[in-house]
Amino acid sequence: MIQKPIPHADYLVLLPNNSLVLPENYSGDSKDFQALLNREVFHKSIDVKEAPPHLKIMKQLELVDHEDLSDHGHLRLYPKGALIMDLLSDYLLEAVLEEGAYPIKDSSMYDISVEPIRRHVELFGDRVYLLKADDREFVLRYAACFGQFSILKNALVSYRSLPLKLFELADSYRLEQSGEVGGLFRQRRFHMGDLHVLCRDLQSAKQEFLKLYIKAHRLAHEFGWNYVAMVNMCRSFYDRNKDFISDLLQAYSKPMLLYLGVPEDKYYWVINIDLDYIDNLRRPVESVGMQIDVGNAERFDIQFVDENGKEKHPVIIHAALMGSLERWLNNILENAAKQQKQGKLPSLPLWLLPIQVRILPIADRHMSKALEIAHKLKDSEVRLDIDDRPISLQRKIRDARKEWIPLYTVVGDQEVQSDRLSVSVRGDKEYENKWVSLDELIQFIQLRCCNKPFRRSYVSMMLSRRPRFA
Ligand SMILES: [Zn+2]
Repeated sequence: MIQKPIPHADYLVLLPNNSLVLPENYSGDSKDFQALLNREVFHKSIDVKEAPPHLKIMKQLELVDHEDLSDHGHLRLYPKGALIMDLLSDYLLEAVLEEGAYPIKDSSMYDISVEPIRRHVELFGDRVYLLKADDREFVLRYAACFGQFSILKNALVSYRSLPLKLFELADSYRLEQSGEVGGLFRQRRFHMGDLHVLCRDLQSAKQEFLKLYIKAHRLAHEFGWNYVAMVNMCRSFYDRNKDFISDLLQAYSKPMLLYLGVPEDKYYWVINIDLDYIDNLRRPVESVGMQIDVGNAERFDIQFVDENGKEKHPVIIHAALMGSLERWLNNILENAAKQQKQGKLPSLPLWLLPIQVRILPIADRHMSKALEIAHKLKDSEVRLDIDDRPISLQRKIRDARKEWIPLYTVVGDQEVQSDRLSVSVRGDKEYENKWVSLDELIQFIQLRCCNKPFRRSYVSMMLSRRPRFA
């Protein structure tokens, strides 16, 4: 049983044993949760003396940087960064297809003379980009909602299709304060993987919401981190839905911060959950946002036909299961920096690394063997390159380490004679100059990348031909 809420406290901590305490009385050992309390409840500012480590990594690995010719918070992706983003979007697409979602693509700008869009512009005030075309004024979208609502308004939806899920990876625009944008933490243009679920009523919306909530945590686990959760709602919703909140808590068994100070009937949603990743500066990075929306179906004239042939407004879930891909990459790089702090060699998941194997021929006479290995690896869906530059082997090895290349193999006279390769695995003493067959190397990679999306390399195979972008 949940205890009675402590009166007049807008912030409460729901502990894994289902009891409530005031934030100042929270004595759990989760430093990440404490970081969330510090920001949300105690408004402690973070003394940022150093830059977040992902800034250095994104340049060192030649992934992404600010675009000088655009506005603040607009990024350029170099080929390796573009590959990682494309792989992440493939991954997210798979995750929502698994849930039965229908992917769509819609416009990036919407007419602000349309009533609910005008209201959105008023609500977000100076945080929207406005632009004119002919004699009409448009707003650049902040997420995928308008496009999907517009499609749903025109769709014929029967109760048999519910819960109905639409998905789009939407380029999204928010005019954040220029001083607050930076790196991958906050941008003015980003890519939001936005899922909307039409449900017949609040009860079924709660069931779907719980499933997606569990899924969002599972996706984060696959990348190696946990979230802290903040739940926003008005007090009356909480009082009527304690069992539901308890179900959310049980799904994850970590403390949750509840904010019950949301004004009644102010927002279109009745519950809004943020899942935050805590970065190396102890900043909560809002990474997943989920809401149950009871207002927009009516506002956008979205209906379904029930069993009796009657038209009804559905309840809509908004779920950005991986938030924006830029933030997701932020978390991946910050997580790599955390590994480094723990004394490990930083790395990225093998399936995401732009180059998975580097072949290091010692001299020109070893090149044909290097090419032979390369073609076999390429045919087996491995991303590889050959360091064919006229430099010493030591320098080649040093550069491979600097670029976080996870596996490299040296090709010299001995290897030309042999049908085995000497392979080194980054950060694994057991695999330093270990002799394996090419098939074993391929198997090693496939085992670690199985069920994950694959794309071929976005950069030239020969290092000597590759330009430097950063
Ligand atoms: Zn939405």
